[in-house]
Amino acid sequence: MDYGKTLNLLQTEFPMRGNLPQAEPKMQAWWKEIDIYRKVQEHRKGGPKFILHDGPPYANGDIHIGHALNKVLKDIIVRYKSMQGYDAPYVPGWDTHGLPIEQAIANSGKADRKKMSVSEFREACRQYALQWVEKQKAQFQRLGVRGDWENPYLTLTPAFEAQQIRLFGEMVKKGYIYKGLKAIYWSPSSESALAEAEIEYKEKTSPSIYVAFDVKDGKGVLPDDAAVVIWTTTPWTLPANLAISVHPEYDYVLVEADARKFVVAAELLENVKQTIGWQQVSELKRFKGAELEYAKCKHPFYDRDSLVICGEHVTLDAGTGCVHTAPGHGEDDFAIGARYNLDVLCPVDEQGNFTKDAPGFVGMFYDKANKVITEKLEASGHLLKLGFIRHQYPHDWRTKKPIIFRATEQWFASVDGFRQAMLDEIKNLNWTPKWGEIRLHNMIAERGDWCISRQRSWGVPIPIFYCRDCGEPLVNDRTIEYVANIFEQHGSNAWFDRDEKDLLPAGTVCAKCGHGEFRKETDIMDVWFDSGSTHAGVLKTREDLAWPADMYLEGSDQYRGWFNSSLITSVAVNGKAPYKGILSHGFTLDGEGRKMSKSLGNTVDPNKVSDTLGADILRLWVSSVDYKEDHRISDAILKQITEVYRKIRNTLRFFLGNLDGFKIERDRVAYQDMNELDRFAVIQLNRMVDRVIQAYESYDFHIVYQAIHHFCAVEMSSFYLDIIKDRLYVSAPNDPQRRAAQTVIYDSLTTITKLIAPILPHTADEVWKYIPDVDLISVQLADMPKVNESVFDAELERKWDWFMDAREEVFKALEIARKDKVIGNSLGAKVEIYPLAAETAELLAMFDRLDTLFIVSQVQVHEASATPPEDAYRDSLVAVKVGVAEGEKCERCWIVTPEVGNHEHAEHPTLCPRCAEVVVKHFSE
Ligand SMILES: [Zn+2]
Repeated sequence: MDYGKTLNLLQTEFPMRGNLPQAEPKMQAWWKEIDIYRKVQEHRKGGPKFILHDGPPYANGDIHIGHALNKVLKDIIVRYKSMQGYDAPYVPGWDTHGLPIEQAIANSGKADRKKMSVSEFREACRQYALQWVEKQKAQFQRLGVRGDWENPYLTLTPAFEAQQIRLFGEMVKKGYIYKGLKAIYWSPSSESALAEAEIEYKEKTSPSIYVAFDVKDGKGVLPDDAAVVIWTTTPWTLPANLAISVHPEYDYVLVEADARKFVVAAELLENVKQTIGWQQVSELKRFKGAELEYAKCKHPFYDRDSLVICGEHVTLDAGTGCVHTAPGHGEDDFAIGARYNLDVLCPVDEQGNFTKDAPGFVGMFYDKANKVITEKLEASGHLLKLGFIRHQYPHDWRTKKPIIFRATEQWFASVDGFRQAMLDEIKNLNWTPKWGEIRLHNMIAERGDWCISRQRSWGVPIPIFYCRDCGEPLVNDRTIEYVANIFEQHGSNAWFDRDEKDLLPAGTVCAKCGHGEFRKETDIMDVWFDSGSTHAGVLKTREDLAWPADMYLEGSDQYRGWFNSSLITSVAVNGKAPYKGILSHGFTLDGEGRKMSKSLGNTVDPNKVSDTLGADILRLWVSSVDYKEDHRISDAILKQITEVYRKIRNTLRFFLGNLDGFKIERDRVAYQDMNELDRFAVIQLNRMVDRVIQAYESYDFHIVYQAIHHFCAVEMSSFYLDIIKDRLYVSAPNDPQRRAAQTVIYDSLTTITKLIAPILPHTADEVWKYIPDVDLISVQLADMPKVNESVFDAELERKWDWFMDAREEVFKALEIARKDKVIGNSLGAKVEIYPLAAETAELLAMFDRLDTLFIVSQVQVHEASATPPEDAYRDSLVAVKVGVAEGEKCERCWIVTPEVGNHEHAEHPTLCPRCAEVVVKHFSE
C-alpha cells in the first residue's frame, strides 16, 4: 500500500507564485466588470462618512514615485475605513490649468501661438490636459487604486470654474480681494510679466559700481561728513533708490580712507579697500547695523532722502554690506520696503523706458541709462569705482533678452482680516505627523498677501470689469453670478470670445461715473486658486461627498501649497478649514538617500515596478516605509519587499492547502475545546489584530506591515504551523485535533486576508476566491476583523512565550547534532533535556507531548539535580543531549518508535499503532 496517499497533504489550486504583472490586470478587469467601486459604496451606504479629499495632481507627464506613494497611501486609508464600516467615497481629481501646460503646447511646435486666438490656444491646452488625465488615470488604476474613476473632478470643467468664480466673488464681497503693486519678473522685450519657469540664467557682462551716499542725518552714530558705500551691478535702478539696507546683527565700521569718511561692513572692509584702491585706511568707529536704522543719506543725484533700514536679506557674500534698495525693482527690496512703508517707485514702463518719475532720463531705455548714470555719478564725485563683471543673469526664455524686476499692478487676496481665524482653526485639526500643526501655523502666521493674478491665458479669468470712462473696477454679486452662469453653460472660453456687454447683465453702469461701457480684466487666476477652491467646487457640490473633508493627504511641500491655499479660501468665506485633519508624507529618496532626479538616473518608475514585480509589491513597499519622513526605494529594497511578499503569500497558501474538505460551520472547534497550543495561536492572532488595527487607526502602516510579516514568518511559520504539521498531515481527516488546528488556520486565513486587503488588494481578492465558505464576492466588502479580547490570558501567554525561548535552545542543540551528522531529520532524534534550574524543570513539566512540540520522536526530561553529560549542548535554560531515537521509523509518519508493528493490524507491519489505526479506519477499501 502507498501510505503517501493516506496523508492529508497540501491541497490547493492557489498558485505558489503570484505572477503579479500578469495576474493583477486580470483582477482589475474583474473589478471593473463587477464595478467594485459602486458595489462597495452601495454596501456601505448609510454608514458614517469618511471623506478623504484627493489633492489634484497636475495633468502633465507620467506619474512618478511620489504620485504612486501618495495615491497608494490614500487608497490604503480609504479601503481600511470602508472595511471599518464607513461610507468612504474616493473621488480622484486633476489640476488642469497653468503655465506648464501652456509651455508644453508652445514647445510642442504643433501650435503657433501667434496665429491662434486665445480660445484656440486654450482649447489646445485643454486637449493636452485631458490627454494626460487619461494617461495618469490608467497609471493610477494600474496601482490598484480604487475610486470613482468614471467621474473624477477636473478643474477645467465648466461646473468647477463656475464654483471657483463664485468663491472668488464671496471673497470680493468680504473685502479680501484688492489690487496692489508687486515687483515681479518683467521682460521688456516681450512686454510681459514672466513666471519663474519662463526664466533662464545666462552669462552677461554688467557694470559693477561702488557709490557713496552722503550722510544727511547720522542719528548721532555717523558724522555728517561721512558717506555710506553701496555696490550695484544695475546702475539704472539708482533713480528708483529709496533706501539703503544694512543687516541689524552685523558689525559696521566708520573708516577714514584717503581723507574721506566711509561706512562699510567690517568683514568686507579689506575687500572694498582692495577693489576701490584706497591707500590709507583707519577705523574710527565700530557699531552694529541696528544702530544705523533710520539714519538718512542723500540720494546721489536727486533731491531726496535715502533711508537706512535693517534687513535680514543683507549678506556678506560680496559688495559692502550696505545694500542699495529700490522697492520697485526687486523682490527683497519690495518686501523690505513694504515693512518700512516706502513707496513702490518704478520709473520704468512696459518697454523698459524711463518715465517722468525719473527726471533726466525720461524716454531712455533702461540699459542705455547705465552709462549715463555712471558718468553723472563720477562728475559729482559719488562714483568710487567702476568695473565690469561677468555673471549669471536672468533672461526671457523666449526672446533670450535680459529681464528686469518691475513693480506692476496685481490682484491680491489679503489674509490679515482672517489670519487669526486660520490660526485658531489649525489648533483644532488632527495632525499626522504632529509637527504639521507647527509647520502650517508658522506659514500662515508669517505669510504675506497672496498674489492671485497671472498674465497668462490657460486658467480661470479674473471676473472683473473696468469702467472705460473712469477706470473704476466693477465686481458685485450680480456680475459674479452672471459670469458664473455663463461659465457653467459655456465654459470660461466665453470670457475671451465674448464682448464685455455679453458678459454683463443688460443695463449695467459704473457705480462711480454712471458710464455703461466696460473693459474686461485680461489676467487669469493663479492655478493655486483653482486647487485651493476644490472644497467649494467638489466637496460642497457632489452628493457623494461632504464638507469639510475628514482628511487632506499630500506631500510635506503642500504646507506651502494646497493645505495653505485651501485653508485661505475656505476660512475667508466659511470661517472654517475645509478639512478636519491633515496627513503629510515625506519624499522618496534613492537607496543611498539621494534625491531622485532624471539627470542622476536614479529614479524608480512606478509603472515599471508594476509591470515587472507587480503593483502589490510597490504597495507593500509603501506600507513598509515610515512615510512621514523622507524614505528610500531601490532595486535592493524592492527585492527585500518581494521576499516578504512571498513569505506572506506562502503562509496564506499553506493555510488554504490545509483546508481541503474543511467546512467551517460543520467542523469548527470551539475555543474552550482546543488544546493550549491552539489557544495560544488564537491569542497570538488576536494580539496581532489588535496591533494592526491600532496601527491602521494611527496611520502607522509600517507597523501593520511589521506585525503581519512577524505573525506569518515567526509566530506561524516557525512555530505553530511547524508543530501542527503532524496533526494536519497524519491524523485522520476528521480527527478533532486536526479540526481544531484547521479552525485556527481558517480564522488566521480570513483574518490576515482582511487585514492585508487595504495594502495588497490584488492578492487579498485572489486569496479570497479560494477561501471555502465565504459569502461575499470580494474581500473589499468584508468587515475588518475585531479583536476578541475574551481569549487574552496573560498566564497562558507568559507560559508559552517562555516555552518558545526554551524551544529555541533545544533547536540549537538539534542543529548542531544535524551538522555533526548525529541525526538526519529531526524526527530521527531522541532529546534528553537537563533543566539547569528547578524552576525550568517545573515549567517543562507543565507541557504535554514535548516530542510533538520539539518535532522529534522521543523526549526525556531529567531531574533538575541531574548532571548533564560532558558532550551535552548547554544554553541558558537547559542542557540538551541529542541522540538517535530508539526503535523503527514508521513508514507513514516517520516517527521513530519501538511500537512500529506492535499493534493488531498485522497487514500494516511497518506502521506505528496510531498510523495503523488511521489507515485501517479511513483508507481500507
Ligand atoms: Zn506513524
